Amino acid sequence: MNAIDQTYQLIKKYDIHARKRFGQNFLIDERVLDKIVDAAGVCEDDFVLEIGPGLGTLTRVLCERARHVLAVEIDYDLVDILERELDYDNLTIIEGDILKKDIKEIADKYNDGRNIKVVANLPYYITTPVIMGLLESRTPIESITVMIQKEVAERMMAKPGDKDCGAISLTVRYYATPYLAANVPPNCFKPRPKVASAVIRLTMLDKPYVEAEDERLMFKLIRAAFGERRKTLLNAIANSPELDFSKDMIRDAIEAAGLSPEVRGEKLDLENFAKLSNIFSEHENKSL
Ligand code: SAM
Repeated sequence: MNAIDQTYQLIKKYDIHARKRFGQNFLIDERVLDKIVDAAGVCEDDFVLEIGPGLGTLTRVLCERARHVLAVEIDYDLVDILERELDYDNLTIIEGDILKKDIKEIADKYNDGRNIKVVANLPYYITTPVIMGLLESRTPIESITVMIQKEVAERMMAKPGDKDCGAISLTVRYYATPYLAANVPPNCFKPRPKVASAVIRLTMLDKPYVEAEDERLMFKLIRAAFGERRKTLLNAIANSPELDFSKDMIRDAIEAAGLSPEVRGEKLDLENFAKLSNIFSEHENKSL
């Protein structure tokens, strides 16, 4: 019996009603399951963190291929079912909210701080905080392969200058190389979600894409630029509640970065933002 048939059997046996508040849309398509695991390139040396195992559909396939799988599930009833039904020596199930877990601590404790792979059919209501949390966690992660809303995947794939490009696109490219592995229609899930989905893989870079002396400042500039994308970069930075520079200082910094004060922030790439933020940090250091 394949993983999908086993899932159907569990739905029937335990009379499962998907919980909307936990974003439960169970995968019921074998080909999509393979696409996720293939895109992640899971092999017998890998330690995999799965977020939201649900009824264990993806978990079973991961356990067959990986060295160890650690699955974090928020729904206590599903944890109970998983513990009864999944019989793998290389599986650890933890009950809890992934957003409250210290991923670095998990990697240290269960995998001696070595690289992990993250694989999941994510609950859509927490897609962005989960991915951002993983990228920024300084955890040794090799790659993150996840099913998310198609629209969010497109934003993560967008390049500077594309209409979909936003703060999230640049944040992803600062840490990782994104790859769109598959588009997945709503009929591959039970219940069907209202939106289309996609599988995306983020392969972590050995070091960030650009060197910014003050990373936090660079991300504040990125948020300012995309927060008011119709305004000039000068006005967007001047209006940002997170930044406190005079208009003259901002104009000088933009010009020193080789840009026009009239440019819109959405036209900038990561190199531009790193350069600009380094000019601002130099100025801050001098005024101390
Ligand atoms: N992996 C299963 C599959 O592919 O069929 C289920 C995927 S379903 C989209 C998302 C899963 O994440 C559900 O099992 C849900 O209970 C779980 N979940 C939701 N919020 C969570 C959270 N904050 N932490 C951990 N798991 C969560």
